Amino acid sequence: MLAVGADPIRLPLAGNAAESVLSVNDLSDYQRFRDVLDGKQRIVILGAGLIGCEFANDLRSAGIDVDVIDPAAQPLGRLLPPQAAGFLRATLEAAGVRFHFGTTAQSVASAAPAIAAALADGTTIETDLVLSAIGLRPRIDLARASGLTVNRGIVTDAFLQSSAKDVYALGDCAEVAGFNLPFVMPIMQAARALAKTLHGTPTPVVYPAMPVVVKTPTCPTVVCPPPPGVDGQWEESVAADGVRALFHDSAGTLRGFALVGAATKDKQALTKDVPPLLG
Ligand SMILES: Cc1cc2nc3c(=O)[nH]c(=O)nc-3n(C[C@H](O)[C@H](O)[C@H](O)COP(=O)(O)OP(=O)(O)OC[C@H]3O[C@@H](n4cnc5c(N)ncnc54)[C@H](O)[C@@H]3O)c2cc1C
Repeated sequence: MLAVGADPIRLPLAGNAAESVLSVNDLSDYQRFRDVLDGKQRIVILGAGLIGCEFANDLRSAGIDVDVIDPAAQPLGRLLPPQAAGFLRATLEAAGVRFHFGTTAQSVASAAPAIAAALADGTTIETDLVLSAIGLRPRIDLARASGLTVNRGIVTDAFLQSSAKDVYALGDCAEVAGFNLPFVMPIMQAARALAKTLHGTPTPVVYPAMPVVVKTPTCPTVVCPPPPGVDGQWEESVAADGVRALFHDSAGTLRGFALVGAATKDKQALTKDVPPLLG
């Protein structure tokens, strides 16, 4: 059973401090990050996705100056429709997070005792630490070298079986019936099914609707992304205290939602209405 996880994607950066850019993918990374952060006041975060926004919120709450850089036009660019993202952005900005959208970091150079992060739009940010949170790539090298079928992840059927009999994959490294879902809940679903299969009762994995709670307490956010490739559209209802966005497919079925601010109270009710992703 392959459960080898995923590697952080590294942005190719120029500059003599490029090697000092940290990413956090496990506890030892996190310990290193905390050690380097100790006594520092400023941080640049590459990536305004889930992990970038969560770190931005926490570090800002701890009094750190936070700049977040992302080539997209909004935070959680692949998950949130525009008004919901705008609400999240405005709330984090009001808390003091500085976003730099539509650009990317090009170099990270020593400017002792600081670090200078130069962006493609000509801005240079003086900072103490650069954290990269631009995403993860499933670890597929071992599977590929073993002749297993790989795509984005290690390709498995709904029973978690790879292209080779008796070789299974699950977790961040796996692409299960077309889905690579790097979150704990799908892994738990997969592990339960696989346990039954390995005990002699072949059991396909079931993925119910699994909303992701974004840990940005300054602006509570929950998103249940529509399955990739589903035709449909977002409808957003904006209120002073939050945004409720629903994604219906072309047949009118609710296939996903995004809730920001006070609208997160609707999470449970909406989750019941979204059909399972798989099974
Ligand atoms: C900062 C951060 C925050 C997150 N927050 C959330 C969250 O709030 N909610 C949520 O649901 N998910 C969250 N996730 C995602 C979640 O942590 C992952 O989906 C989950 O840990 C993946 O588990 P895994 O077992 O597939 O991989 P991992 O936990 O990465 O474990 C893989 C293990 O395999 C080992 N390994 C690698 N190669 C080999 C090899 N060749 N042989 C043997 N062992 C090997 C690795 O050393 C590692 O110990 C977060 C992830 C990060 C990085």
